[in-house]
Amino acid sequence: MKKLIKNVNLFDGKNESVSEHQNIVITDHLVTDIFTGDFSEESFDEVTDGKNQYAIPGLTDAHVHLGKTHIDGATPSYDAIVGSVVAGKLLEHGITTVRDAGSVTDGLKRAIDEGVIPGPRIYPSMNYLSQTCGHGDSESAHYNRDIQYRNPRGGVLCDGVAECRRAVREQFFLGASQIKIMAGGGMSSECDPVETLQFSEEEMRAITETAADYGSYVMAHLYTPACIQRAVRAGVKSLEHGHWIDEETAKLIRDTGVFLNPCPQFTLEEIRWNHMGEFSDQPSQRKKKKKPGGEKVKEHIDETTDLINKYDLKILFGTDLMIMYNGYEPRASLDFTVYKKRFGSFRGLLAATGNFNDITKLTTYQNPYPDGEIGLLKKGSYADIVITNGNPVKDLDVLGDTENILFVMKDGKVYKNKL
Ligand SMILES: [Zn+2]
Repeated sequence: MKKLIKNVNLFDGKNESVSEHQNIVITDHLVTDIFTGDFSEESFDEVTDGKNQYAIPGLTDAHVHLGKTHIDGATPSYDAIVGSVVAGKLLEHGITTVRDAGSVTDGLKRAIDEGVIPGPRIYPSMNYLSQTCGHGDSESAHYNRDIQYRNPRGGVLCDGVAECRRAVREQFFLGASQIKIMAGGGMSSECDPVETLQFSEEEMRAITETAADYGSYVMAHLYTPACIQRAVRAGVKSLEHGHWIDEETAKLIRDTGVFLNPCPQFTLEEIRWNHMGEFSDQPSQRKKKKKPGGEKVKEHIDETTDLINKYDLKILFGTDLMIMYNGYEPRASLDFTVYKKRFGSFRGLLAATGNFNDITKLTTYQNPYPDGEIGLLKKGSYADIVITNGNPVKDLDVLGDTENILFVMKDGKVYKNKL
């Protein structure tokens, strides 16, 4: 099947300049040519007129939890059904690839990859790893301790080098493409204040080494400078949240070239904030207590944003979509407006395109999608293409309204066409 998208202005996922009057050739699921000039429409099975709008790579979200809801009484089968509905909606937002930051997504991924249901490509982490009394500790985590690799709800506990290594290997057994750990305190759990350092450096190094033995890397939930510095020293490659950075930490991130995923949990996102502390799988006696951790982190957001921009840190786009906040709508469009405000339009768009391409390289032979490039729009990319009404390179607010997402193709198949 040979398709043509004609007459678009093209952003390739890397360069700020947009190429005008481009035509894109798609053969089956890959982009096989991009050219300007004359052509005969007869040589294509299908021709779409891009009407001089903007073609960009399929967008990515590097931090979601698609396989787990935080809803009272939810069971794995409920999570799976809700996750599949939300996955389909992500395509409406132009999100064609996600990295799951901890939840059981093997069935969802398979059903999407086989074309049974619509949804994005998934880089799964499977269960996140937490120490006892860490950010992933809950009653259900203790219950599942002895049956870790059959745990259906998204998290496992491990303490000490041997358990940590085993937990990493189990996730690869289950189909993880990278490993997610909880490396510091949080705002959504009660037993671990945000300042806590989680996993000793020795444990964390065992985790990153074991992941490297499987050709992959580790992403870590953390907030504070002390957590970030320990994680980077131990070999973690993707820092999740990281809203509390000082000058020394920013320099360390720049010098080591690790990724930072500053998911917007606060700025313009008071809805999220209001829901913190209401997670349902916490021990019931702690459920009602409010945590001060979030307020402490919140105070550092502006400084962190300045440091990210000052040191030009490599950022990813992540929404931390958890299927709990005000229903089941993906929040990508809201978060693009946050990224514009914090990092500017071009850098915000780069976070959701070319920078994600860079992190797929860290999965080497564990990459579940090795046939084409993701996050780039060039010859040899997967045919994951979004066409927008307006130029998001100049104004990322274009992606802040799903009405502007005129056309979405994933794997050569059209999922939305309002052109
Ligand atoms: Zn998360």
